[in-house]
Amino acid sequence: VTATPQPPITELDDIFISVKTTKNYHDTRLALIIKTWFQLARDQTWFFTDAVDTYYQEKTKGHLINTNCSQGHFQEALCCKMSAELDVFLASGKKWFCHFDDDNYVNVPRLVKLLDEYSPSVDWYLGKPSIFSPLEIHLDSYPTSSHKNKTPSEKISFWFATGGAGFCLSRALTLKMLPIAGGGKFINIGRKIRFPDDVTMGFIIEHLLKVPLRIVENFHSHLEPMEHIHPDTFQEQVSFSYAHMRNQWNVVKVDGFDLTKDPKRFYSLHCKLFPYFSFCPTR
Ligand code: UDP
Ligand code: MN
Repeated sequence: VTATPQPPITELDDIFISVKTTKNYHDTRLALIIKTWFQLARDQTWFFTDAVDTYYQEKTKGHLINTNCSQGHFQEALCCKMSAELDVFLASGKKWFCHFDDDNYVNVPRLVKLLDEYSPSVDWYLGKPSIFSPLEIHLDSYPTSSHKNKTPSEKISFWFATGGAGFCLSRALTLKMLPIAGGGKFINIGRKIRFPDDVTMGFIIEHLLKVPLRIVENFHSHLEPMEHIHPDTFQEQVSFSYAHMRNQWNVVKVDGFDLTKDPKRFYSLHCKLFPYFSFCPTR
């Protein structure tokens, strides 16, 4: 029996890849992405930042979006960017929304392969939590504060995908989010629960819309030890990250360029995955 190969349901062009960044990280983080994995998804990737930057606007061929959100690593600023990411995605008409941080390496072909296993017309919230049990929070008379003294704070729990590992939402799910979180309303929800953007996302999807997080182990944030990812499995991973904490680098353990030239290991990782890339050593 010869089976005719089915065309893929999802192609790279069906995906909207958004990367959250900030002015201070353009030279240190954005530049590294632009030289590596961005080159494999130049038309699909958009950077959401908080300043005008003509240099990187040109480097990204116009894919740097100034959200006008305030700079700073605090709830309001982060939710403001996520809100912009979601709204630009909704207007794009693409089938999948994938968010990443600017310290993520995205294995582009693997991301496409992952999403090809799911239907964009079914509600999907794909990602990976960084905690081992659902987050428990107290809601102070959400959504209205009309009966202040009567309502005791309600305890709820939900899972959320860590933003620093990346996560993807199907178009079907984002359309359900649209009336409650579209058009900037994501910010209001974040303000009410007083949690960061990724937690707010989990709150909206799991708690308000009752769509469960589907855990995909192939996403990785720097909250995990990067050296635990075995080089033989690099091809299978969707995302990687790095961090410098307590005088130590948490980075992928990979042979390649020396540590002074590639402390974050992204050039080496990129060459391991795509050995024929321009800057990779010829073998
Ligand atoms: N970030 C931001 N504004 C800031 C600081 C950070 O938008 O003032 C973004 C940053 O570009 C990254 C994400 O927030 O995409 C997480 O920042 P970082 O990696 O510095 O901190 P983490 O939360 O991972 O410890
Ligand atoms: Mn980080």
